[in-house]
Amino acid sequence: MIASSLPVEITNAIRRIVGVGPCALHEPNFSGNEISYLEDCIRSTFVSSVGKYVDKFEADLCSFTGSKYAVAVVNGTAALHISLKLAGVKEGMEVLMPSLTFVATGNAVKYCNAIPHFIDSEIETLGIDPAKLENYLKENTAVKEGKCINKITNRVIQAIIPMHTFGHPAKIEEILRIAGEFHIEVVEDAAESLGSFYKGKHTGTFGKLGTLSFNGNKTITTGGGGAILTSDPTLAKLAKHLTTTARVPSLYGFEHDMLGYNYRLPNINAALGCAQLEQLPKFLEKKRLLYLRYFEEFKSINGVKLFSEPDGCQSNYWLQTLLLDSPDQILLNEILDSTNNASLMTRPVWKLLNKLEYFSECPKMDLSMADAISKRVINIPSSAFI
Ligand SMILES: *Cc1c(COP(=O)(O)O)cnc(C)c1O
Repeated sequence: MIASSLPVEITNAIRRIVGVGPCALHEPNFSGNEISYLEDCIRSTFVSSVGKYVDKFEADLCSFTGSKYAVAVVNGTAALHISLKLAGVKEGMEVLMPSLTFVATGNAVKYCNAIPHFIDSEIETLGIDPAKLENYLKENTAVKEGKCINKITNRVIQAIIPMHTFGHPAKIEEILRIAGEFHIEVVEDAAESLGSFYKGKHTGTFGKLGTLSFNGNKTITTGGGGAILTSDPTLAKLAKHLTTTARVPSLYGFEHDMLGYNYRLPNINAALGCAQLEQLPKFLEKKRLLYLRYFEEFKSINGVKLFSEPDGCQSNYWLQTLLLDSPDQILLNEILDSTNNASLMTRPVWKLLNKLEYFSECPKMDLSMADAISKRVINIPSSAFI
């Protein structure tokens, strides 16, 4: 067998774009008002649970995404946890989600004592395959008294979590239609897709609720942080209430009217977020430029192609993605070795959630495409300022 020249070709192509390295997969950039807002926040002493930056950050998120309401929280996982609760997910219910996602999507379902139910993905968007989903639900579920029942487990399928992989919008309109027909609530995991639009509408604003993440490796960061998006005023109010220990006004004391969570985003993190949001349009421009430069480099290399935004979508290009022409774990590992040994950070996609020990008993459909995708994907250096 002749060793493939692809690992070396890819390493050299990345080097021509990012230089000799070392180069991280995704780095934050604080070249705007970050330090000035942080200083203002510290001088004010309001670094914690109250302060003007949280309100401003939420308002700025609304104006950027077009969401009616945004509730800032400590991280994207907490945003998912609360959103699922608000979508009616309770103990013993099932929640549909791709197996090709970050572990947080599955964990948030477990926090509700509910059960992840894994759905296959498609190659066009790297998101949920709507056609396969629809056939599967037709065969395996029945709607009874306004609830979708899994005929095999007899459990209620309460919600579905479409995830916009690496910032590329899933086929959200089709998923919404199918979910509607089967009486399933939609909670969008838009952790990776701030700045991504499906037919001009921001991802995370299609479902009953949507969630964002501002972790250090995301398009913008607040250190750690997340947000819940919704157009429903009642849900927005409840989200705020649940994430602020369900505290109710009382003259001097502490009073709480339900089991709440300490999930609010501290003011100091929101200060960072305000400065980062100002920079977001520039980040998006630079990330698109990086995509175009990589595209030029990779178009003449056989055996691999750079993933492009789906039709009708505008992606944030959070993580640039190479796709091998066919699944090949050995070649994939060779490419990972070659690039990382050259100090150019590249990564495979997450291990499929159904293959993690603690999710191995969860219900699932045939996941052959997700499995194939996981043997084809390599993320390459993607920072906005390469
Ligand atoms: C980043 C991410 C989250 C949330 O992560 P946090 O680190 O909790 O902010 C959730 N889902 C996906 C798909 C993600 O990539």
